Amino acid sequence: MIKSGAQHLESLRDGRTVYIGREKVTDVTTHPAFRHAAQTIADIYDLKADPARRDQFTFEEDGERYSMYFRRARTRADLEARMGLHRAIAGVSHGLIGRSPDHVTSFVTGMSTAPEVFGERADNLLRYYEHMRRNDIYAAYAVIPPQAARNPEFYQKQNMAIPTLRVVREEADGVVISGMKMLATGAVFANEIWIGNLIPLAPTQLAESITCALPCNAPGLSLWARKPLEPQAPIEFENPLAYRFDESDSMVMCEDVFVPWDRVFVHNDAVLARDIYIKTPAHCYGNHQSNVRFHTKMQLLVGVASRITQASGADQIPAVRETLGRLAALEATLGGMIAGQIQDAESWPAGHMTFNRRYMYAALNWCTENHSMLIDCVRELCGGGVFQMPADISVMQDADLREKFETFWQTPQMGAVARMKLFKLAWDLVGTEFAGRHQQYEKFYAGASFIIRNHNFREAPWAHFHQVVDDLMASYDHPGAEPAAGAD
Ligand SMILES: Cc1cc2nc3c(=O)[nH]c(=O)nc-3n(C[C@H](O)[C@H](O)[C@H](O)COP(=O)(O)OP(=O)(O)OC[C@H]3O[C@@H](n4cnc5c(N)ncnc54)[C@H](O)[C@@H]3O)c2cc1C
Repeated sequence: MIKSGAQHLESLRDGRTVYIGREKVTDVTTHPAFRHAAQTIADIYDLKADPARRDQFTFEEDGERYSMYFRRARTRADLEARMGLHRAIAGVSHGLIGRSPDHVTSFVTGMSTAPEVFGERADNLLRYYEHMRRNDIYAAYAVIPPQAARNPEFYQKQNMAIPTLRVVREEADGVVISGMKMLATGAVFANEIWIGNLIPLAPTQLAESITCALPCNAPGLSLWARKPLEPQAPIEFENPLAYRFDESDSMVMCEDVFVPWDRVFVHNDAVLARDIYIKTPAHCYGNHQSNVRFHTKMQLLVGVASRITQASGADQIPAVRETLGRLAALEATLGGMIAGQIQDAESWPAGHMTFNRRYMYAALNWCTENHSMLIDCVRELCGGGVFQMPADISVMQDADLREKFETFWQTPQMGAVARMKLFKLAWDLVGTEFAGRHQQYEKFYAGASFIIRNHNFREAPWAHFHQVVDDLMASYDHPGAEPAAGAD
């Protein structure tokens, strides 16, 4: 099934429980905190459903049509087709919606190419993959324990349950889970939530190892949203990004939520709970999407940087051009890292092809390390221009103020209103609360930086690197190591 935007919005009116502070939101598609971002997600669905892009964004299997991000790649062309849809989807939000509908679905699609990793629950995973693609499901995920879970003794001393999500009992037809998980980006706009563990668990954390999928309206499940940014952006001209692209982040609270067995993918297995992401192509499929999304955002950043310098005339200064050249080089570097994931794709799992995992992890690390530097660079190019503008564009509604604004705020390169529009966009990208949330997102969405480096460490061919060193050292020795002439 290929859902339309309107069908997706309809699917969100399902009685889910979403809190903003103590306010319970009844309809996320119309609430002023969420409605524009909900429409952006609907736009993504409409993009995929466009009949003119049918062969590009969808594929047919056994007589059914599915979104291209459900394609299990067997060739490089399949990987390219996946990348093409990621790029198009990222384009809808200029890379500012991180957990778009192609993220978690890509994880699950990657898993479905190696279902044997799930052992006795392999069929559950395959059925879930089938359910997702048949119903064009948008899933978010919450795969990190809350920070409080680090101090279990604090709770034990008070005879309280540790707040991290766990199985509290088994029933004949499923399990019951309670507790909290962080931090499901996009969940208020999604149909389902994947619960799991991307960070290794201790071998004793069996109840916490539960990996399952829940509909967002499951009885007992509530989403506690962080402060939404859309209400602070009522006028698109003033905050063009927060206005449409605040994807939201929510803590997931489960109070005695029932999960039927066929939606349980891992239970009572602390090692498997993590292995399913790295012993299947899940991480490669899902984080390739993240790389492409970041690349799209970089193009916006570099474009804004250049336009800002044009607006002030600074683009003619050699030192400023050098900065722009550096930004362009960095953008191309990431483009190359993404293309390389297909060029050097891996024949893995049997019968399939997967994005090169080392290049994918390297790109993930590169993005995490460089985002703040890129933002800082654009901030520096903005100078004080962002604060030279009037408080808001209402000045245009007063004839006297308008005339002064248009006269004094123009530059030889650009009119006053166009300058203000550009600087408002730039500030929403680098300076507002929306921009600050993005800084945090880019640092942490794939785990803290030491986790990302651990992935890079794990996948590196150390034996090969060591052999290179050993072969080199074996090619020479210290003077006198050879037998002395005349010795027997
Ligand atoms: C905007 C945003 C969106 C997110 N979206 C999602 C989502 O959709 N789904 C999801 O599941 N999660 C999501 N997350 C959560 C994210 O995965 C976590 O924030 C991340 O894994 C880091 O965990 P933490 O926040 O508990 O930080 P901590 O683990 O508490 O880390 C805090 C700091 O301590 C350092 N630190 C901690 N332990 C070590 C160590 N052993 N060695 C070295 N340094 C250490 C870290 O590097 C970091 O600097 C999101 C986070 C953010 C900020």
